[in-house]
Amino acid sequence: MKITHHPDAASLMSCSAGSMPEAFAAVMASHISMCPSCRRDLATMEHIGTALFEKLVPVSVSRPAPVAAMRALEADVDEQDARLAVIAGDVPQPLMAAIGAHLDKVPWKRVGPGVWQHQIALNDPSRGELRLVKVAPGQALPEHGHRGNEMTLILRGSYADASGTYKPGDVADLDEDVEHQPIADPVEGCICLIAVQGRLRFKSAMARLVQPFTGF
Ligand SMILES: [Zn+2]
Repeated sequence: MKITHHPDAASLMSCSAGSMPEAFAAVMASHISMCPSCRRDLATMEHIGTALFEKLVPVSVSRPAPVAAMRALEADVDEQDARLAVIAGDVPQPLMAAIGAHLDKVPWKRVGPGVWQHQIALNDPSRGELRLVKVAPGQALPEHGHRGNEMTLILRGSYADASGTYKPGDVADLDEDVEHQPIADPVEGCICLIAVQGRLRFKSAMARLVQPFTGF
């Protein structure tokens, strides 16, 4: 797997500090489980953080499941490199507890022509939403902007927009200024994991009209 699109440094730092909303932490944890480069960067940030805070008295906190899984992944970077090379089915390890090991067994719900989704339950849904989205081969999503950040991890197939082509393991880490129209791979289509903060802003009147029914 050759990963060319990574989360930006601010996202890695927020993840390292444990301050990322759960939906985004789940996307980060999944990407990190697939990406040795970000795993190393995160480990470095955490070592710096530990050095800064080692004199503080530790308190026990309950972490959301994806974050707990991510911490477990960071436990031993070298050992994980070997173990994480094997991803059972095509679901990253941090997501398996929530959706199982196989994308084909996800209970997809059709939300429009050539588009299906599966919403993943969160402990705190007030800070973002997490969903799997499946797009049929060659299908374009309506052009949209965002009312908050959006972070997308490709799990199968690929999509392309004006910023490039995104393949399995790649992350599109977008802020609210970006407008884009992703088009799924003409042969494989695309399955991705998307964290969003706020609703999408569709440009076309038709897409806005059906938005209440699709949940996007
Ligand atoms: Zn990465």
